[in-house]
Amino acid sequence: MANSIMWFRRDLRLLDNPAWSAATTGYETTTPLFVLDERLLATAGQPRLDVLFGALAGLDEQLRHLGGRLRLERGDPATVITAVANELGAAAVYANADTSPYSAARDRTVAETLGVPLRTSWGTLLHRPGTVLTQAGTLSKVFTPFYKAWSKVPVVPIPSPGSAAIAPALTTAVSTSAGESVDDLGGDPIYGEAGALARLEAFNERVDAYVDDRNIPSVNGTSQLGADLRFGTLSPHTVVREIGDATPGRAGFVRQLAWRDWYAHLLAEHPHFARRSLKPEFDHIGWDNNVVAFDAWRAGMTGYPIVDAGMRQLASTGWMHNRVRMIVASFLVKDLLIDWRWGERHFRHLLVDGEVAQNAGNWQWVAGTGPDASPYFRVFNPTLQSKKFDPDGAFIRTWLPELSGLSKATIHAPSDAGPLELAAAGVYLGDTYPWPIVDHFEARDRTIAAYGAAQDVAKDPA
Ligand code: FAD
Repeated sequence: MANSIMWFRRDLRLLDNPAWSAATTGYETTTPLFVLDERLLATAGQPRLDVLFGALAGLDEQLRHLGGRLRLERGDPATVITAVANELGAAAVYANADTSPYSAARDRTVAETLGVPLRTSWGTLLHRPGTVLTQAGTLSKVFTPFYKAWSKVPVVPIPSPGSAAIAPALTTAVSTSAGESVDDLGGDPIYGEAGALARLEAFNERVDAYVDDRNIPSVNGTSQLGADLRFGTLSPHTVVREIGDATPGRAGFVRQLAWRDWYAHLLAEHPHFARRSLKPEFDHIGWDNNVVAFDAWRAGMTGYPIVDAGMRQLASTGWMHNRVRMIVASFLVKDLLIDWRWGERHFRHLLVDGEVAQNAGNWQWVAGTGPDASPYFRVFNPTLQSKKFDPDGAFIRTWLPELSGLSKATIHAPSDAGPLELAAAGVYLGDTYPWPIVDHFEARDRTIAAYGAAQDVAKDPA
């Protein structure tokens, strides 16, 4: 009987993995392979690399229990996969498809270069692109109709893995990695599938409170499973099956996975989604793109505490709460009038769950340039958002210890506090904490004018 190759990418698990099931069915031996692609590695900051290397260590550990190992190669996938397939005389290569333009182009090249078939499945989304359509047979650019259609599409169960033996040991590496193994990456296997299933189980205990807690950044109210879904140590199928929809918290949580599918489907249909506005008129916005302001935003030094707390959470953990992501993104685009693509790139580099479809989709949503956007003239007021979602200032206090002496009334906008109160709290504006770098109301007017002008240009390019 022939042998196959399973090319793992962002599906670093064995459970509910359609490509793995196909690769291990009807073959004598399967070789599990991961290719370190320098072009992708270069886009990821250390927190996401830590998760990737840990997830690979976890996968290798599982494969060892099955008597095999994860083979590691480094280099250009088309060259490496073809060489491994030739070396092993493999009959086919199996992988789970993705919707990013990079992965689609890479897979086309690999398929053309390989002398044997590259067989792809959809293991990263609950529903594959093209299967969630409105009655008109199109992909909705508005979330609610998409969600209604999504909820009605039957979930196709994923077959169990087959009985192929797992290649027992590393054969000679064909790429520049000669001799490199997963052990050399030094990842913590806690990030792997076994850890992910434990994290899912722990979240299952608190998911019923999801609807109440998910918007409060000082509360551990969300799943923090983003990186597991990003690297596929968890399948959305497993998540939906385990969580179900028996309570509002559970149904509300599963609905978030529809956003995830939606943005991926949109990217599949609009490959330019990460580079251009989905509403083309907003490619004419006259951005201010002030580099000093951008640096202040990145450093968490804007003088708006909720923004600064979020940016410092991102810098030190690689994760940021969704509500705060919306606030800081809105601040960058609508208060600083900085191109959403600058923020998108920064987030994509640092986030542990950073990935093209979700990141670009959410940035465009916040910027009002993409799908389902609320009208551009509706601009978040960061101070009001802060008072509403961090009423006691607990989140701000965690990330901005220099403001921790302020009361819950003044911590949201220290520049509005009196000098005595600031001095009593040890806060010296311009010294221990910055003055606000913009006036929100002036900035809001400037942004609305810039968006309006962009629409005018689009209507009358002359
Ligand atoms: P939970 O609330 O527990 O949600 C569970 C899962 O549902 C998430 O892990 C995620 O896979 C999915 N999900 C939840 N909200 C969204 C959403 N708005 N859009 C798409 N999927 C969602 N999410 C990413 O996975 N990668 C990104 O690069 C990313 N960039 C973002 C950028 C901005 C500006 C904003 C506003 C949001 C972004 N999000 C991104 C969406 C969301 O913030 C994260 O998915 C979420 O905060 C991850 O934490 P969690 O797993 O605890 O979320």
